[in-house]
Amino acid sequence: MPRKPPFPMFDYVIVGAGAAGCVLANRLSADPGVDVLLIEAGGEDTNPLIAIPRGFGELLGDPTTAWHYPTRPFGPEQQVEHWVRGKTLGGSTAVNGLVYNRGQRADYDALEELGNPGWGWDDVGPAFEAIEDNGLNVSTVDEADPLLEDIITAGTELGWRRMRDLNETDEERIGYAMATIRDGRRVTAADAFLHPVSARPNLTVAVNTAVDRVRLDGDRATGVEGRGFQADAGEVILACGSVATPKILQLSGIGPADTLRSAGIDVAVDSPNVGARLREHRAFFLQHRLTEDLGYNRLLGNGAAEEQYRASRTGPLATPSFDVVAFFKTRPELDRPDAQIQVAPFSILPLEPGQPLMLEREPGMMCVGFILRPDSHGALQITSADPDAPLDIDPGYYDTEHDRATAVGVFRAIRRLFATEPLAERIEHETVPGNGVESDGEILDAGLTMGGCGYHAIGTCAMGPNDDDVVDPRLRVRGVTNLRVVDASVLPTMVAGNLAGPVSALAWRAADFIAAGS
Ligand SMILES: Cc1cc2nc3c(=O)[nH]c(=O)nc-3n(C[C@H](O)[C@H](O)[C@H](O)COP(=O)(O)OP(=O)(O)OC[C@H]3O[C@@H](n4cnc5c(N)ncnc54)[C@H](O)[C@@H]3O)c2cc1C
Repeated sequence: MPRKPPFPMFDYVIVGAGAAGCVLANRLSADPGVDVLLIEAGGEDTNPLIAIPRGFGELLGDPTTAWHYPTRPFGPEQQVEHWVRGKTLGGSTAVNGLVYNRGQRADYDALEELGNPGWGWDDVGPAFEAIEDNGLNVSTVDEADPLLEDIITAGTELGWRRMRDLNETDEERIGYAMATIRDGRRVTAADAFLHPVSARPNLTVAVNTAVDRVRLDGDRATGVEGRGFQADAGEVILACGSVATPKILQLSGIGPADTLRSAGIDVAVDSPNVGARLREHRAFFLQHRLTEDLGYNRLLGNGAAEEQYRASRTGPLATPSFDVVAFFKTRPELDRPDAQIQVAPFSILPLEPGQPLMLEREPGMMCVGFILRPDSHGALQITSADPDAPLDIDPGYYDTEHDRATAVGVFRAIRRLFATEPLAERIEHETVPGNGVESDGEILDAGLTMGGCGYHAIGTCAMGPNDDDVVDPRLRVRGVTNLRVVDASVLPTMVAGNLAGPVSALAWRAADFIAAGS
């Protein structure tokens, strides 16, 4: 049962009940000899829309279930975008697109090569098997849809292999999305890892409890505090995600000295890379008008999809955000895919600020595509000692030549796919960004002005072997004892795909280190 302060002393205090935090709570409380407190700023995951796979539209706009972090203005039109994150038990896995990927084996080997022993594929691969065997149900679409079949066939014409299990290989491939869905219902990290163990007497869960700071005694973390509460811990583990975790560290005096001083915070540890080294997927957004009345626009617009879902938990509402996923190379000489696209057979009207997502009336289709391993760096920092003050988030999109050239390659490959039969016959024309976008410069501008973030930011508390890496390869915060970070922020380089699965696997692996006291 959720519990309210005051809290006694715990062996572990885990902050944030998302993809990582739920796994940690499960694994660390498996030892009945240790007391674990899991603290979540959001509420319980009782909103009925959470269980409906395509029910996230409303959840993402609702401040009780989602955080909204505005970025700095960027791009040719200097727009601000909101980085949304889940705020409830399950964290972002309660509001995300449910597409499940492990990433490429070589991504994990690269972590090891960067000086992080224990993070290569031979070590992380078993963690994926463990999470998939322990409640994280992964399914794929069984019914063949004629339009989606044509997308997949067009992909095979480009040389991509059709796969039912997209995680079986790291080659160029296309197929129906794999998703964390069981019997037409979303499976969040809380469903998979937290709720099944919530009756353990040594596991306490506190909801609606926001942590503002880590409490320090000299260079030792002793617990956490927020408004109206504090909790003492043998070890504190921050798992608030790549935006909130560096924010909490900075508010606690752990971060770049200049940033802390200008926010009026005493410097406990000058750790220059807390909030730096941010990497995010920048996704192109394309839409097409269809020649026939296929796809989901009508079904989703006239209530038929809701009726079908209510009756049988099937149909468009029972599927992930995107129905077809492909991984491919932007240049044939590459040794592995460097691009991902996701396609859904519905289309939306331009988003109006503060308005819910609206579907087009005419039949349409959308496609997003992004570079798998961007190497541009952004950064985020606090602007004040007040935990409610906005952050300064610089997304850093397309800052490197690699990212600009690869992004253009991704966009042109998407156009090639939609011009390939049998898909080409289904397409009347590209509505977004449209035929006016041709040159490399126009493509990059379209990516910045009409694209979107991938919701996959990493790197803001990156692990590494050097003194200026925020955490060491055992995810211990440098400069402080009894404090770790275990969430998406510790990844120094991008994992090639969607991140919920990789972050849960990372937490599974981290629990081995924590339980072993290493
Ligand atoms: C809209 C969206 C769509 C996505 N689509 C996909 C997808 O299709 N497939 C996929 O694999 N991945 C997807 N992702 C990404 C994936 O969900 C995240 O990468 C993953 O959940 C990150 O895990 P995490 O544990 O680092 O953080 P989160 O899962 O975000 O969990 C962090 C938790 O910390 C809590 N918290 C934050 N601040 C505090 C505080 N001060 N005190 C206490 N608690 C706090 C939050 O409320 C949250 O519950 C998507 C993400 C979003 C937002």
